[in-house]
Amino acid sequence: MRQLMWFRTDLRVRDNTALHAALTTGPTIALYLISPGQWRAHDDAPAKVDFWLRNLAELAWALDRLNVPLLIRHADTWADAAEVVRKLCHELDVGAVQVNEEYGVNETRRDRAVAERLAADGIVLRSHLDQLFFRPGSVLTQSGSYFQVYSQFRKVCYQRLHTALPSCLPPPRAQEELDIPNDTLPAAVDGFPVPPESLRQLWPAGEAAALERLETFALEELWCYEERRDFPAQPGTSQLSPYLAAGVLSPRQCLHAALGNNQGEFDSGNPGVVCWINELLWREFYKHILVGFPRVSQHRPFRQETEALAWRNAPEELEAWQQGRTGIPIVDAAMRQLLATGWMHNRLRMVVAMFLTKNLLIDWREGERWFMRHLIDGDLAANNGGWQWSASTGTDAAPYFRIFNPVSQSQRFDPDGHFLCHWLPELAHLDKRDIHNPAGLGGLFGVEGYPAPLVDLSASRERALAAFRNLAARE
Ligand code: FAD
Repeated sequence: MRQLMWFRTDLRVRDNTALHAALTTGPTIALYLISPGQWRAHDDAPAKVDFWLRNLAELAWALDRLNVPLLIRHADTWADAAEVVRKLCHELDVGAVQVNEEYGVNETRRDRAVAERLAADGIVLRSHLDQLFFRPGSVLTQSGSYFQVYSQFRKVCYQRLHTALPSCLPPPRAQEELDIPNDTLPAAVDGFPVPPESLRQLWPAGEAAALERLETFALEELWCYEERRDFPAQPGTSQLSPYLAAGVLSPRQCLHAALGNNQGEFDSGNPGVVCWINELLWREFYKHILVGFPRVSQHRPFRQETEALAWRNAPEELEAWQQGRTGIPIVDAAMRQLLATGWMHNRLRMVVAMFLTKNLLIDWREGERWFMRHLIDGDLAANNGGWQWSASTGTDAAPYFRIFNPVSQSQRFDPDGHFLCHWLPELAHLDKRDIHNPAGLGGLFGVEGYPAPLVDLSASRERALAAFRNLAARE
């Protein structure tokens, strides 16, 4: 029986659960849907869409070697997906459609609608666990609910990993040739401008590039991950998030690469290994939260009482934050890194998110949207989790009174100012003491070409504390 492998955020042939299932069941044809209306509704960044398309080209090449033709169809929004997939199944005499599970509310609705439409015609949709180590709903508290505290979730995950480590699948084998030609791949999609070459070069497409990055990181960087991961001027983290978000790599491949550099051990040897696996488990945690508490993917806070927070409407301040013109160097450098590279270091994501939601007291949803529109690794669960953590509206979030001081964060995590100099050349002449806080130099005009701080850090901190206290008083 012919199989249709419907690729989504799983753009690889190796260790791909649905593709493996398809190829071991019957002659396989691959499908990818171009859905610009849906991508716009999800605020998917042009850089991310371009990354998908570039990876699709690499995937087509890899599939060709397996004799699997790749077909491209247009379904502007996912409301059209069921009919497009059904029609294709009829044209090609397909008996089963194989997919890897995706977890957002819209993704779940889409797959349910597709499954129902296909079932009416006697075609099955088979879904597989692939993006995660554990299926959401399978890691629960003793009382049967979703974990809301990361450390407790992580503990259960480790118990499971110790007893049954998810393994990678064998490499796929080529099938007999099918008499179906490949479709031409789009080089770009209307409404999603191609990013500059300087950005594209930072993120080479394809499984080979992703695996090479993973291997280099595991061999050369992982051993000092724990010490270096918070310093944005150093190559301390893997920069694999775009590949994980697009499914060019699987989390299992990451897990095994890390353990492989530690004689297969979790607990002893290289301390970077567990520290890094903990990050993969944050990724896991937020996807489980998305399923357990779907309101978080519908622009609503996890802590519902924070719905009443008196966020400020300050469009000019929001724009200054977006464009890296707040007058706080570490915030501006980070925001410029985002615009230029489509990526931002994790420490800085927390710093800029706290600055927006606490010092500027602007709604976290504004920041979440801006990030999504610019991140090449934009991922609904991780982005929402990170924003709600920083805004103290989320599960296991930062307590509202623990507000990062961006200047102290800058002094601590970029002590020599290398990161600041790189992104803010107008401050490069300052010494490593002054660069973190040029306003502290005094003078009427500050540093030429660089704005004065948008807010006073301690007064704005007090304003945020008061807003959160008011909220507590209303409860
Ligand atoms: P590493 O340190 O090498 O970590 C390995 C992998 O673990 C990452 O690639 C990522 O898949 C996962 N991971 C690491 N930290 C986290 C975390 N805190 N939450 C969830 N997964 C994590 N990550 C995204 O992938 N997409 C997003 O849209 C996103 N938005 C964020 C927004 C905010 C406000 C914050 C605070 C964090 C956000 N993160 C997001 C999490 C984190 O910042 C990035 O995953 C990380 O910076 C990616 O860099 P890396 O690949 O070098 O990470």
